[in-house]
Amino acid sequence: MSKRIACACEDVTEGDLAAAAALGFGDVESVKRYTGFGTGFCQGKSCLAGVADWLGVHGLPREAAAPFTPRPPLAPVALRELAALDPDSLGPPGPGVPEEDAILGFPHRRPEGSLPERCAVAIVGGGIMGLALAYDLCRRGMTDVVVLEAGYLCAGASGRNGGGVRTQWNTETNIRLARRSLALCRGFARELGVNVWLRQGGYLFLAQSDAVARRLEASTERQRRLGLATTMLTAGGAREVVPQLDDRRVVAAAFNPDDGVVFPWPFLWGYAAGAARRGAHIETFTRVTGVEISGGRLRAVVTDRGRLACDVLVNAAGAWSPRVAALAGVKLPNLPYRHEILVTEPLESFLGPLVSVLDDGIYFSQSMRGEIVGGMGDRAEPPGFEVGSTLRFLARFSRAIVDCLPVLGGVKVLRQWAGCYDVTPDNSPILGETPGVTGFLQMSGFVGHGFMMAPAVAELMADWMAGRGRDEILDRFNLGRFAQGRLEREDFIIG
Ligand SMILES: Cc1cc2nc3c(=O)[nH]c(=O)nc-3n(C[C@H](O)[C@H](O)[C@H](O)COP(=O)(O)OP(=O)(O)OC[C@H]3O[C@@H](n4cnc5c(N)ncnc54)[C@H](O)[C@@H]3O)c2cc1C
Repeated sequence: MSKRIACACEDVTEGDLAAAAALGFGDVESVKRYTGFGTGFCQGKSCLAGVADWLGVHGLPREAAAPFTPRPPLAPVALRELAALDPDSLGPPGPGVPEEDAILGFPHRRPEGSLPERCAVAIVGGGIMGLALAYDLCRRGMTDVVVLEAGYLCAGASGRNGGGVRTQWNTETNIRLARRSLALCRGFARELGVNVWLRQGGYLFLAQSDAVARRLEASTERQRRLGLATTMLTAGGAREVVPQLDDRRVVAAAFNPDDGVVFPWPFLWGYAAGAARRGAHIETFTRVTGVEISGGRLRAVVTDRGRLACDVLVNAAGAWSPRVAALAGVKLPNLPYRHEILVTEPLESFLGPLVSVLDDGIYFSQSMRGEIVGGMGDRAEPPGFEVGSTLRFLARFSRAIVDCLPVLGGVKVLRQWAGCYDVTPDNSPILGETPGVTGFLQMSGFVGHGFMMAPAVAELMADWMAGRGRDEILDRFNLGRFAQGRLEREDFIIG
């Protein structure tokens, strides 16, 4: 195996590239994610051309060796400098620095071979939902499954999120689901052989107003009744958890030591490989373009690689789910909203919990690699599939994080990116049957918490599809609720 360095910042060798290619990571975006090349301090400037060239020479199709999407800022910039910018002078959220593939363009790779002619279950979307479901179906003996993914596996929100896994929720249902997911996260490496870098440093929610403090108190009480270890803290108590915190604006806090953070990408690789080992087909760079229905029953799904007859089609296309549903003449109420996020240079480990200020929607945590990873919602953001990166976000986030932890002022931002929240009218998902189309199932609308809910929700979906019982979430969160005017509100949303 060649030890020649391909990426000096992240210590990636040509041997590592070869190992990634041998595992089937056959396009530059996937190789970047699997090996980490191009994610260090030089932001890929010194290694990208060489790696793209290496990939081209070593047998990957020409399109697969295209450069990966460049990430702003152009050079590492200190949070303090960005915090000095006035976000209001930067105007409302604009398109920002565009992404080459606008998420669903994907020039990177044409798949080889043909699709199977038919299958029992086809799943649109190779994000965490689709892949976890494929794996859980296979575990229950339903292995005739095909996952159809328009891009590479981490292309959607599942490859773009903050990796937060928390049990601090408002509704009993979400507390139950998150608890189960956390248990599954703990066992993921053992079951699927992939390290997901789970770190249970807790979640510290900060309130900067009495109204938010009261909301925290109410949900903490509910969580404690259900057996969680959440406690309310004073500003001083919050400082004991994070000594670097500037607590002058903190009115109250809620802390749960069991919550944590994961590295999202290995979840997708683990579920995909686990499903494929059991016989499922994971078809990347395969876009669904049509749905065939006759006699009120779903018959087939049409893709840019041909037609696939199926008994059941699951719509797990995240923010794009309404578009997929529309192919079947079905209207979903979900709306996509851009959410931006960034990562800094790595620091010595110092920050235990993920910290979130509910008043302004900022959250940040320290990854196992030492970077600060954080995002912030923007109430001025209009709905849409925009995923460009903005200076407005850098300014707002930097100001908010430096206000919280002034010690971070000199730390440099390395990369920013964005993904879409998949937002429903009540912040709860849409699961199960579609009225009027037998065989068409929904699994979308997970707003900003689908990553942490997926392991538990996929188990329950798979149980039901395999005839092993129907959990109440299939009724509570069905599509029919909107027509009935029955909303299942969850308001403990970050951002
Ligand atoms: C910035 C940000 C931070 C977040 N932080 C967290 C967090 O800390 N914790 C948490 O739990 N959640 C978080 N989330 C939310 C979480 O990422 C999502 O809820 C979750 O990943 C949704 O998974 P999914 O599989 O439903 O969708 P996705 O991951 O978006 O997957 C859908 C897939 O469908 C594919 N697709 C679309 N149309 C088609 C088509 N026509 N044919 C074939 N394929 C198609 C897309 O390419 C995509 O890969 C965050 C989201 C964002 C954007």
